[in-house]
Amino acid sequence: MQPHHDYDLIVAGAGMVGMSTALWAQSEGLRVAICDPNPAGSGTTSGSACVIATYACNPVNSPSIFKSLPSLLASPDSPLNFNLLHGLKNPAWMLSFLNNCRPARVDHIANALAGLLAHTDDGLNPLIALADAQDLIIENDCLYVWSSASGHTASLPSEARRARLGVQSDDLSPSDILTLEPNIRLPLHRGRRFKGVRHITSPQELVLRMHRKFTSLGGTTLPHKVVSSNADVDGVTAQLNDDTQIRAPRLVIAAGARSRDVKGSGADKLPLGTERGYHILYENHRDLLSRPVGWAEAGFYATPMADGLRVAGTVEINAIDAPFNTKSTAYLKRKSHNMFGNLGPPDSEWLGHRPTMPDSLPVIGPSNTSDRIIMAFGHQHIGLTLGGITGKIATDLAQGRKPSCDITAFSAGRF
Ligand SMILES: Cc1cc2nc3c(=O)[nH]c(=O)nc-3n(C[C@H](O)[C@H](O)[C@H](O)COP(=O)(O)OP(=O)(O)OC[C@H]3O[C@@H](n4cnc5c(N)ncnc54)[C@H](O)[C@@H]3O)c2cc1C
Repeated sequence: MQPHHDYDLIVAGAGMVGMSTALWAQSEGLRVAICDPNPAGSGTTSGSACVIATYACNPVNSPSIFKSLPSLLASPDSPLNFNLLHGLKNPAWMLSFLNNCRPARVDHIANALAGLLAHTDDGLNPLIALADAQDLIIENDCLYVWSSASGHTASLPSEARRARLGVQSDDLSPSDILTLEPNIRLPLHRGRRFKGVRHITSPQELVLRMHRKFTSLGGTTLPHKVVSSNADVDGVTAQLNDDTQIRAPRLVIAAGARSRDVKGSGADKLPLGTERGYHILYENHRDLLSRPVGWAEAGFYATPMADGLRVAGTVEINAIDAPFNTKSTAYLKRKSHNMFGNLGPPDSEWLGHRPTMPDSLPVIGPSNTSDRIIMAFGHQHIGLTLGGITGKIATDLAQGRKPSCDITAFSAGRF
């Protein structure tokens, strides 16, 4: 007798990663159900700095962290906030993060990320076409600027690594920067232009259009959490928080920083943490820039968006449900005024949760519990960029195929 399946694939989470998976799988003819209690794309995806950051192979883990960490933590003017109590409650994650700051580990991580980033367009472009969302994509490069000689010097090893890994960029003088972006008022030391880089003017709109396409082609959306999953030889049963159960041959866990909430999936046993990040939006200052500009020492990007100028970044290591920290948004306000002059008060403020493993590599591949459950989370600072290719890989795995790129480094089995 055939086992009963409601769908061919269940996807938990409708952020950039989950929605990409659902659309890729559906485009291959699978009957897909996507479960999310919140609107598609409204999680961390919605508030990002919106850069399709194909150059972002350098992880936050860095050998220089041992030298720079004490001053970053002590400074009242730092893009990094660390909650000591949270750190003390999670010593294993913290130690593992530091262990992954050793030079050999950082090289391994950067190689693996560069390998995956090289497939960004293969994963993303077909989805942009399916969603009819080309108008949300701007190709005008992306800049990094350094305001100090010391900051620039400190970045040289990681910039050299990027170049070794094939990232194309140009070194810029202060006058080159101002020719490209005349409204920057910082004292400028040096810049870098990442060529061919695109950005998205509204990531939530992109995911909503993907969702609309998915629905129009017969995809099912269930507005519920997946609370647990149970795999057996024939398939997976997902328990939803409305007390219903659904069943499919495979389940993809793509619930971002909350992926551990799905009990029994294997995700609940992995050291997934979060780097909280913030943005502020100046609705009337969109025209200050024509492309995303990252101020390297200050740890944020200013990005021209459909609805204004978004200033997004900072890293706060704290519990996922800790209250909004106005220190971070006050920092972004101060620094954006340094960058552009007095912009007045921002129109809105936002907090999101980057899903981050201690080695800054995502988890993409079969769960340690069962190969009927596929992990697709942990994309830290680059999930908007890598969502498309992750969805393509997850679909390969759901179809029982070998993915087109090497995913060994992302296996759940590394923990
Ligand atoms: C300040 C900031 C700037 C950033 N800038 C960039 C950038 O420029 N470029 C880039 O590539 N990346 C950037 N990122 C990172 C990027 O935003 C994330 O990596 C990415 O959005 C993660 O996508 P996701 O689909 O995994 O998670 P999310 O977008 O958070 O989606 C997860 C979804 O799962 C749902 N969910 C939760 N629990 C359950 C459950 N139990 N069952 C079902 N559904 C569930 C949630 O409701 C949510 O909709 C930035 C992040 C921040 C915070």
